[in-house]
Amino acid sequence: MRIAMIGTGYVGLVTGACFSEFGVDVVCVDKDEEKIRRLKAGEIPIFEPGLDDLVANNVKAGRLSFTTDLAEGMKGCDAVFIAVGTPSRRGDGHADLSYVYAAAAEIADNMDRYTVVVTKSTVPVGTGREVERIIRQRRPDGDFDVCSNPEFLREGAAINDFMRPDRVVIGAGSDRSREVMRQLYRPLFLIETPIVFTELETSEMIKYAANTFLATKITFINEIADLCERVGADVHDVAKGIGLDGRIGRKFLHPGPGYGGSCFPKDTLALVKTAQDYGSPLRIIETVVDVNHRRKRAMAERIVAACGGSVDGKTVALLGLTFKPNTDDMRDSPSLDIVPELIRAGATVRGYDPEGMDEAAKLLPDIKYCQSAYEAMDGADAVAIVTEWNEFRALDINRIKTLLKAPVMIDLRNVYDPQEMRAAGFAYTCIGRGTER
Ligand code: NAD
Repeated sequence: MRIAMIGTGYVGLVTGACFSEFGVDVVCVDKDEEKIRRLKAGEIPIFEPGLDDLVANNVKAGRLSFTTDLAEGMKGCDAVFIAVGTPSRRGDGHADLSYVYAAAAEIADNMDRYTVVVTKSTVPVGTGREVERIIRQRRPDGDFDVCSNPEFLREGAAINDFMRPDRVVIGAGSDRSREVMRQLYRPLFLIETPIVFTELETSEMIKYAANTFLATKITFINEIADLCERVGADVHDVAKGIGLDGRIGRKFLHPGPGYGGSCFPKDTLALVKTAQDYGSPLRIIETVVDVNHRRKRAMAERIVAACGGSVDGKTVALLGLTFKPNTDDMRDSPSLDIVPELIRAGATVRGYDPEGMDEAAKLLPDIKYCQSAYEAMDGADAVAIVTEWNEFRALDINRIKTLLKAPVMIDLRNVYDPQEMRAAGFAYTCIGRGTER
């Protein structure tokens, strides 16, 4: 089997490398010449654990290559995957499908045999049919089928998520295309991964329903956490107490500064817009979007409050800037809301992130970037943990006390134990663990 992967970002590169590990010949195509140059030189343009070895091994085995030329990439391929970005469209929040449609047109111009065109990007219901229409219009003679195969991997655990997924969803309208997809995912059939075959529209809908459900779960526990603070309850125990119920499940019940990242914010918004367009509003998701948006800003207020009500002229150290650990992805990270608010309130912000500082510097140029957590805290008035990187889990508490002007910690990820921190003399603020009592 041979495939072309259009878009060599977080999803395209991981998926392409994993398919090559399955034994498929994969050509990763991207318009970004610098990205392709680096990949050809053996550099990985993103941070994703394990990806460097996976790519290197498969390049060496001759199953994985990179190009900017789609014609070269599509030569003799059985399937071409579209894994380009679908960001929020400026102004209205709909998914911007211009990259997907541009890729569809380019595919039409380069098809040289029966080809399965697979949308791996997260795309609103109806996009697969439009991709089909675009290709058919340019190539009335074209021999092709369009499939939807949404991706559920998580950055930071992407390889394992792709290799051992909970399920694979494939929206396909013909036996011929289903057979190609079955061949591509053969190793997962062998390990008895559930494969859900549906029509195009259903598959597209599954991806949005999954992401908005998860975003709702996070937002639910965040609001419960706020209430826990008021009533003196501990949200960790509440999460455990409800999560042990099999109908609820324990995952995604960890309170924090609000969901971020490259998927949940844009996908919740896009589904809200689709639902409004079809006259079937999703009021729960509309509220989730609103609550989460406010929450990120409220986190800055929480830091200000912990600093005695003002950060004017003070220095705040932020540990972690990416939207979650084990990635360098800064898209829609809570830090993008928190930092400007603190600076507006007069604070100097020092920041440290193990992998995200290059990306962060492009978006948050006013932070003073440091080379370690301890350097960021040296002489600061307070420290806030924004992302729960492992290296922030076992900081030397006594050393922090000597570095900070006063022992003030705002732990937006509940990394530390409130009782221990308070016993160690910290003014310690966390999320949903009775901090206001
Ligand atoms: P990304 O921005 O990291 O990568 C997209 C890549 O596509 C870029 O390198 C860009 O240069 C390239 N590109 C755009 N148009 C092109 C064209 N016509 N030809 C060749 N290359 C082109 O995006 P991503 O994070 O990998 O996300 C891709 C899609 O996957 C999105 O729809 C996203 O919602 C979905 N998704 C992302 C994740 C995730 O964790 N990042 C998880 C599941 C699904």
